[in-house]
Amino acid sequence: MKILTLGAAGFIGSHLTHRLLQEGHAVVAVDLTIEKVAEYLDHPNLTFLQQDIRRPEWDLDGLAQDADLVIDLIAYANPGLYLRIPLEVFRLNFTENLKIAEACVRHGKRLIQFSTCEVYGRTAASLPNARVADPEDPIHGTFSEDTSEYILGPVSKHRWIYSCAKQLLERVLHAYGLEQGFNYTIIRPFNFIGPKIDFLPQSKQDIPRVFSFFMDALLNGTPMKLVNGGVSRRCYTYIDDAVECTYRIVQNSGGICDRQIFNIGSPDNEVSIRQMAETMREIYAAQFLDEPAPLPEIVSVPGEEFYGEGYDDSDRRIPNIAKARRLLGWEPRWNFRDALEATMRYYVTESQKNRVSSAAGNG
Ligand code: UDP
Repeated sequence: MKILTLGAAGFIGSHLTHRLLQEGHAVVAVDLTIEKVAEYLDHPNLTFLQQDIRRPEWDLDGLAQDADLVIDLIAYANPGLYLRIPLEVFRLNFTENLKIAEACVRHGKRLIQFSTCEVYGRTAASLPNARVADPEDPIHGTFSEDTSEYILGPVSKHRWIYSCAKQLLERVLHAYGLEQGFNYTIIRPFNFIGPKIDFLPQSKQDIPRVFSFFMDALLNGTPMKLVNGGVSRRCYTYIDDAVECTYRIVQNSGGICDRQIFNIGSPDNEVSIRQMAETMREIYAAQFLDEPAPLPEIVSVPGEEFYGEGYDDSDRRIPNIAKARRLLGWEPRWNFRDALEATMRYYVTESQKNRVSSAAGNG
């Protein structure tokens, strides 16, 4: 197939691009940045276009018309940005993505749209007046694609603008499907983790996702900060599992994914953010330190101090993956500890390479 992949050099996009090339597809990859796919640029089946899709002159229609399948991964998908630039988060995640979807509608192309598990918001068990027998029962934190209700905070908690933008986009795709027979598949990723997930923060302005903050703390001996005590829970999903599931959606055997929404995640990998910090410290000491050394302290900070005004959080989100199991025969393989260790290994190795090259530069 000829596959147009938008956002191909992000974390998920770079791993997916690699897989698509391995499978023999011709990939036209579009992204603002190039670093994460730099190692594939010489591949004969890859055409890379460095492009800001917000600029009017790019040839969206021509590229969509020319493709057999369009995969849209373009997003600001980082809570630090929802707080700092909410309008731009809305524009990119809704307005610009809608243009891509509408180009696919115009040219009758199938679209795989990456959305988010943030659409589910908070759990009912977390509400102040919740009346549930056992709030710890995982059933309260488990979300299904076609039946779960969504619970978001008030407008003053502008973290939720991302969730709303993605939700609205999903609803528009659904409506195009209903009214015009548009063929799409929506993917809701549940906290994918793996090499190239993010950048390590270089200054106070940088707010990557939690893994990168903790990794940076381990590498530099600074405190690991738990936002609001680190009680929120996530299900971390290794990128190889995520790409395997996504690839089955690309194949779409017998049209089984047409107009479907899929959760992709590892329900068995649930941890609190505090557990994540503690596990990373353990792994770092056991696997990456040549001799015993002091490990960073773990401290708690208020959410609004860490992120700024308007912060709120998903308390818990466990994917129900019955649909992916049933329709795609997919099962996640990576447990949390192995996924974390493989991701940490990548960043430890990168940081060693950087130290060697800056030492050589200084010498
Ligand atoms: N978090 C934290 N310390 C940090 C960064 C984030 O405790 O240094 C928390 C954050 O408040 C949230 C969780 O970690 O509860 C996951 O945040 P992340 O930014 O990775 O993305 P999310 O899963 O919320 O999309």
